[in-house]
Amino acid sequence: MGGMGTALACARQGFKNIHVWESASNIGEVGAGINIPPNLARVLDAWGVLKDVDREGVVIEKAHVLDGASDETLTTVSYDGYMEKEYGWPFTTVHRAALQRGLVNGATSSGVVTLHLGHYITKYDFDNTRFQVKGKHEDDSKAVWTDADVIIAADGVKSKAREAMMARRGVVDEVEDTGQAAYRIMVRRSAINEDPELVPFFEGSESYRWIGEKRHIIAYPIDSHDLFNMSTTQPDRHFVQADTWTAAGSKTEMLKTFHDFCPRVQKLLALVPEGEVLEWKLRVHLPIAQWVDHNTALVGDACHPTLPHIAQGAAQAVEDAMCLGIVLSKVQNKEDIHNALEVYQTIRKPRTDWAVNTAAENSKGLHTADAAARNAAFASADEGSNPDKMLSREVHDILFNYDVAKETEANFDKLFAEQKKAAAA
Ligand SMILES: Cc1cc2nc3c(=O)[nH]c(=O)nc-3n(C[C@H](O)[C@H](O)[C@H](O)COP(=O)(O)OP(=O)(O)OC[C@H]3O[C@@H](n4cnc5c(N)ncnc54)[C@H](O)[C@@H]3O)c2cc1C
Repeated sequence: MGGMGTALACARQGFKNIHVWESASNIGEVGAGINIPPNLARVLDAWGVLKDVDREGVVIEKAHVLDGASDETLTTVSYDGYMEKEYGWPFTTVHRAALQRGLVNGATSSGVVTLHLGHYITKYDFDNTRFQVKGKHEDDSKAVWTDADVIIAADGVKSKAREAMMARRGVVDEVEDTGQAAYRIMVRRSAINEDPELVPFFEGSESYRWIGEKRHIIAYPIDSHDLFNMSTTQPDRHFVQADTWTAAGSKTEMLKTFHDFCPRVQKLLALVPEGEVLEWKLRVHLPIAQWVDHNTALVGDACHPTLPHIAQGAAQAVEDAMCLGIVLSKVQNKEDIHNALEVYQTIRKPRTDWAVNTAAENSKGLHTADAAARNAAFASADEGSNPDKMLSREVHDILFNYDVAKETEANFDKLFAEQKKAAAA
């Protein structure tokens, strides 16, 4: 997301020689559903790719939080009345592949972006702005050095670039054990046999979050209402094993984990095809102080990995990309690249730190063992401060009013001058 986004952002700014190296051999359908909140939609629209991304998307009209066991609704927030009116774009859900498609099509159709699939970056030389790259299945000895003017490392939560940057400062890149894991599962409409209890999940434009102690399931329709996407969070029992995005999970174990959830949820889980339960651990890293080394910058999950509980992982990566495109467009000569990248970090870090903390806080509130206190909090919540921060107007105002392009344009000159002065001192 961050890598293709930055390529697209740079193409839109007039850069002519942009290369993206991606270890995957093809852009596949990994990852299930993903949210397109207004702050992400704003950037995609500015790049002219929102229509492509949203083609099979579902505009969410209402979001519910329910007690997992009793199925009782704890809160419902209607997006219909305010989301688009307040923030300019609706809240949409899509398949992750649709977001990838929009970014890849937008970038490659510019004619200035070359996508090298099946290529793995093995090593960085930050002092000389170069890296080693090899074919995914080739031996390390086949890796060749490649020079660049600027390197944007968008290599995700398990970033090798971050590890290398931190090692140069004598800091160990530590994984923070969140204790949480997730299943990504989907039910196709054709599987429900038009069960009247399940049809509304597909025909409606509503999202559901069933919560219980240490667990929840968030679910919404995608793909023109043909798929009901469910993403769970539960205690991580396989901390060592389930370390890839595509690790197969056990359906039996999934059913056991949510055995005390309500009959509607049981029905949905039972319909997930055997062999299509994907499990991954929710991995974050201790916050890092520095995203930039010489002319290399980290972007997205590489520098601010997050829990998914306010659905901002992809949105923050894409905002980073927009910011990077703008700061790099201001650079007059090679000597300015580093300072421009420092400005990018200065603009972005406070916001992404806040988003990461808010997502972590949200799971604490939702997963509490004290159901009575939790229910009371939902019962007494006003519109502004929903206990589910993902539905809170206060959080929406901070996340969705933000225009990263405006923010970057408005602050660049001042921050760049300050950065240059500090660097020269
Ligand atoms: C497969 C997958 C599925 C996800 N599903 C969801 C979801 O359903 N809902 C949700 O809210 N969030 C999901 N996320 C998280 C969310 O998409 C991220 O927060 C967001 O993608 C961050 O973007 P990014 O560009 O920083 O990292 P990523 O999207 O993780 O991209 C990193 C890319 O770098 C590539 N890469 C890594 N190392 C190397 C290397 N050495 N050389 C070359 N290429 C390399 C990876 O193959 C990957 O394509 C998913 C992430 C992934 C990777």
